[in-house]
Amino acid sequence: MRLIRSFRCLLARSLFLAMGLRIGYWRKAVERAWAMESREEYLESILKKVAPRDANGNPVKTYAELKTAPILTKKAFRHSASRPNKSAVFHRHTAGSSGDPTSIWLNRQELGRMLGVRDYCYRHCGIRVGDREGRLWGRPETGLKSRVKNFVLNRRVFHTSGRNLEKEIQELIEWRPDYLYGYASLLMECARQLKQNGQMVPGLKCVIVTAETILPSQKEHLSRIFRCPVHEEYGASEFDIIAFECRSGHRHLVNPWLLLESGPEEQALVTDVSRSSQSLVRYELGDILQLSTVDCPGLGSTQIISLLEGRTSNRFAFTAENERFHAVEFAYAVDQYQQKHGDLFQFVVTQVRPGVFGLVCSPEPKEGTVSVAKDIEMAIQRSAGYEVKVETQSGLERQGKTSYFVQTINATNSGAAMGAVGS
Ligand SMILES: [Zn+2]
Repeated sequence: MRLIRSFRCLLARSLFLAMGLRIGYWRKAVERAWAMESREEYLESILKKVAPRDANGNPVKTYAELKTAPILTKKAFRHSASRPNKSAVFHRHTAGSSGDPTSIWLNRQELGRMLGVRDYCYRHCGIRVGDREGRLWGRPETGLKSRVKNFVLNRRVFHTSGRNLEKEIQELIEWRPDYLYGYASLLMECARQLKQNGQMVPGLKCVIVTAETILPSQKEHLSRIFRCPVHEEYGASEFDIIAFECRSGHRHLVNPWLLLESGPEEQALVTDVSRSSQSLVRYELGDILQLSTVDCPGLGSTQIISLLEGRTSNRFAFTAENERFHAVEFAYAVDQYQQKHGDLFQFVVTQVRPGVFGLVCSPEPKEGTVSVAKDIEMAIQRSAGYEVKVETQSGLERQGKTSYFVQTINATNSGAAMGAVGS
């Protein structure tokens, strides 16, 4: 069995190699890059060679120029003259949560680098790119193209939600993946079902959670049910993995060719110094984050993402007096509640009007959604010092990448609520 598995992994990696994607080569390059004495010098040496263009079309050749380059919005990137060159043969489409899809073109080196970073992170969890993956994803995939792709990648996609939940989980158990990869909500749903049926997925080495915010209490729960470590991945279709959680729970920056900044509005700005097919300089991802430094040499940079939130527009909640607080307070409140009650559920808070929020939980908490709502009200009062009203709502439909907080009020930069406009 183990021999077949090793062979299958080797086959996947050989297929990558046949496509000109040297995963092992690039993983070693990642290791070397992180071992460099001066990161600034390293980045500058690449900038000099590649000279990516900023939002105004000017070449960026030094670290100082990069620091003062204008911010590149997604919209500007879509409409920019940054057309791919001929060697860019790989194409990926970002789903575009804002509605507009973005085209990303990569040459072999660029995709190879991304896979090298992925392999580098996976090794940290005791797996490799090419190991057998059970992917929990939003939609079941059909068609020859995705079947070929899944074969090459040695993975199978499971849709652990809705009508076919039991059947999908049975197939997942029989597939015996080396690791699971997927959205937090689908992993939670899968864990809930496994616990209820007294089943388990045997032989898992790790679980990688992507794309959605996950609470520490939920991560612990997943780790218990799946009986393996759970690692959080932060990435984007434009860059693949940007940060990856180490064994000590930090989200380290892992791609040595990316420079991540928390911009003036705390927005995530990413620069790829190595990419020549398309220029991405101070590219605005649409997420909110704060960075800090830790003394943890285990993985990538000592720089970590200490706070991460979804869409920029969903960052702040407003009180009846039009004062604002960080929406992450809701996540902290629910995390505390879950720890205290030993209860696990998904939730979404929606701002209905200033000072008033709607709460949806799934599955229904043991003590009822009302008890969670009351608890959140008290927690916000305690931590932020504001009196808010949390009402219960029904009908949580989570598909794909979602946020735990949805702001339906238009807000200006000064933070004043402009009145409810509906979603
Ligand atoms: Zn760490």
